[in-house]
Amino acid sequence: MHLFIATLSTETNTFSPLPTSLQNYEDYFLRHGTATQEPPNLMTEALHVWRERAEALGWQVTESLAAIAEPAGRTTKSAYAALKGEIIDDLNKAGQLDVVLLQLHGAMVAEGVDDCEGDITQAVRALCPNAVIGIGLDLHCHLTPAMEDACDLIIMFKEYPHDDASDRAHEIFELAQRTATGEIKPVMASYDCRMISLYLTKEGAMRDFVQHMQALEQEHNILSVSLAHGFPWADLEEVGTRVLVITDADHELAANKAQELGRRLFAERHAVTRQYPDLDEALALAATVTDGPVVLADMSDNSGAGAPGDATYVLQEVLKRGLTNVASGLYWDPMAVRFCLDAGEGAEITLRLGGKVESASGSPVDIRGRIMRIADNVGQHLGAGLEPLGTVVWFQAENGVDLIINNLRIQVYHPEAFEQMGIDLSQKSLIVVKSLFHFYTPFAAISSKVIFCATPGRVNPNINEIVYQDRALDFWPAVENPFENEAVAY
Ligand SMILES: [Zn+2]
Repeated sequence: MHLFIATLSTETNTFSPLPTSLQNYEDYFLRHGTATQEPPNLMTEALHVWRERAEALGWQVTESLAAIAEPAGRTTKSAYAALKGEIIDDLNKAGQLDVVLLQLHGAMVAEGVDDCEGDITQAVRALCPNAVIGIGLDLHCHLTPAMEDACDLIIMFKEYPHDDASDRAHEIFELAQRTATGEIKPVMASYDCRMISLYLTKEGAMRDFVQHMQALEQEHNILSVSLAHGFPWADLEEVGTRVLVITDADHELAANKAQELGRRLFAERHAVTRQYPDLDEALALAATVTDGPVVLADMSDNSGAGAPGDATYVLQEVLKRGLTNVASGLYWDPMAVRFCLDAGEGAEITLRLGGKVESASGSPVDIRGRIMRIADNVGQHLGAGLEPLGTVVWFQAENGVDLIINNLRIQVYHPEAFEQMGIDLSQKSLIVVKSLFHFYTPFAAISSKVIFCATPGRVNPNINEIVYQDRALDFWPAVENPFENEAVAY
């Protein structure tokens, strides 16, 4: 057997004015066939799993591109041509292939191409008409007919925060192997839930839903069940939540199960989603907690969903209210990092921080303080994967606010983003993290309360407040019942 593997991943916020260029991939992770020679990250973990499994079976492995960019606006036309072109060139050079496995995101949008994953998988299918084609997707994907048409297998992360990349990669490999040897014939069907929302899978009704999906996978002839949560900050017709079921040669079963699950999710829509408090409400709530650190998620400035990462709305409010014993990060501000490098560790300076990148950044803040520490090439964990941070500065403002500033756009995943710089988070009253959910598990473990806050910014988590122009408004919560005109009771 001959296996081809590659990864291409970014999550495109079509509302963001920040272009995603080849440089953005180089800044984060760009390797040409060598990604498995380095420690895994979220999107290369599958390549490691697939290579190990294939080599254990004596298969030949051809490894192609691994390209990952922090979410921002559309990938530029030239960058997309180069990245897709490299995968297609490598496929052409590889010779006869039996299995092609790609770890993609599912919400990548380029200039002129709204569905990059559909475009790539269609091109792969045209080149390899008889190969087994399987893809892994982030659950924040836009599942499209083009992808379903081109692929034999599509499996998405089940967990948000995403801590199951390795488990899903093993499943894709196993099903691809069984397909290649003729043991199974996978067929897929999807169901549009007509919902756009965010679903945290670690507790409550959503936890039960994930466990139900896994229980279904044990039933006869059902090979895999995925939920495409969707990525709300893209103004595209395909944006939304969909169920995908793969069965062994039974399309009717796949379609029925997908519909059954989709209807269950819709019926539970109020239980599986939340409305988030604004900054005033969140800070009032934080003030009621006296027994240890409160973590406040600055959700709308999560660069992991395409926000700038340098917004100052929360910082301005913290300073205005005179709050002290606060830690806050990560501020993406390469210019401020440069000034701190110029001044050096220990120097006291007035820094103009944040508020620079785009209209959703707010205003810059001029703040006096001391450069406590500068560290280069440090990282932070997301699950088992180590994600880069670039050059990081701990800037201690003179009013008792510890700020973490860096020159690589990335959200906060782990307390070590602060603690490896020397900040003891257990002693803080308030910890403000620029992230939506990925920070949650390790920060919940070190705090007495986590408050999710719909701060002002580019990535508003209250879906009703997103202004779509191209996405039709026939989804919940834009309308109360998008199935109203159909003979389906809810
Ligand atoms: Zn995701």
